[in-house]
Amino acid sequence: MAEAPALPSASTAPPPEALYLHVPFCRSICPYCDFVVVAGRAARGPGSRVGRFAEALRTEIALRADLLDRSHPDRPPLRSVYLGGGTPSLLSPAEVGATLGLVADRLGIASGAEVTLEANPGPDERGDLAGFRAAGVTRLSIGAQSLEPAELRALGRRHHPEDVAESVRAARRAGIGSIGIDLLLGIPGQDAASWRRTVEAALALGTDHLSLYHLTLDDPDEEGLTGPLGDHLPLRPGARRWRERARRLQDDDRTAELDALAEPLLAGAGFQRYEIANLARPGHASVHNRAYWERRPVLAAGPGAHAFDGIATRSWNAAPLDPWLAALRPPDGGPPALPPGDRIVLGPDEIRSEAAILGLRLSAGIGPGLTDDPVLAPVLAWGRAEGLLAAAGDRLHLTARGRLLSNELFLRLLP
Ligand code: SF4
Repeated sequence: MAEAPALPSASTAPPPEALYLHVPFCRSICPYCDFVVVAGRAARGPGSRVGRFAEALRTEIALRADLLDRSHPDRPPLRSVYLGGGTPSLLSPAEVGATLGLVADRLGIASGAEVTLEANPGPDERGDLAGFRAAGVTRLSIGAQSLEPAELRALGRRHHPEDVAESVRAARRAGIGSIGIDLLLGIPGQDAASWRRTVEAALALGTDHLSLYHLTLDDPDEEGLTGPLGDHLPLRPGARRWRERARRLQDDDRTAELDALAEPLLAGAGFQRYEIANLARPGHASVHNRAYWERRPVLAAGPGAHAFDGIATRSWNAAPLDPWLAALRPPDGGPPALPPGDRIVLGPDEIRSEAAILGLRLSAGIGPGLTDDPVLAPVLAWGRAEGLLAAAGDRLHLTARGRLLSNELFLRLLP
């Protein structure tokens, strides 16, 4: 397992190792969703903008490759490509193939690289999995969220538990070698029995990877993330009301208990936790997601997509689809330009804090360069005294208790 990095010292940003492509279309919008998503006529039927989007996405990839040709002409090929969303499985295999073909031509895709596509399980959403495999997809991430009918209804999801099972079977038939399922903790009405049934059902499907995310119900407007250059879209009034109701039904202690309840089930099935919320059978940890936690350089394209230079600069495209499209496919036929967006350059304190927090999310934890940092030392000592952190050689990692109370530790690690 690769180690979390110590503080970077290079003055020149390295070339990207990973590419994230954001596909912002869904059949409908779930009320808890914080991703950049458009639905309705934009996503289906004669007014669908999916085809135009896919062309524009390839234009953005080409423009970003042009920049890299100047800054890093001898860069190595990518180790991972991730088509996330939204619902990338709404793209046709031909669109996915054309996009991956361009990525391979302009950025390079290393032999054996991980190429993930996110899919929703509904029969009209999961797409042609054999076609995606033929287009170069090696890993499927299925947005199941729950395998309990009542919880899926509570979340406003369109699919049924059987759709998840059929998606896994179809992916196996298609020859996709690594399959992951995303599940949510903290769903209104979820209890120990329903959570156990969901985890057991997911394991029975023979999945290779599980992401167990806590349902967070923030308000991106209140957090100031939805301006013209923001990376979130404004919350719809119905979604805000849904969140207010759901928040009243959530209980952090109960969610932590559910999280702990899954541990022996998953360990018994051969899953190893390699990150706070992610577990995998040996050989199936996500290469792409590890790049984020290890602060490796990531290139990104698509509305709201985030990139990182591997040192200090985090940049993103603005979330709204129209300005993104207008920049890349100008209505007047003019030359395309990179879409609007913004960036932040982290200072030394922020880099230190981020490296510690992201590193501690990984089971490997943090090592010298962070463990012996004098600024971090008081918080790390507090974490050890409280039983949230434990040492293994010269490294520090979260304990089981630390995993459940990680937010308290991470807040103290902020600059
Ligand atoms: S399917 Fe996923 S991306 Fe689409 S609206 Fe629902 S939660 Fe968001």
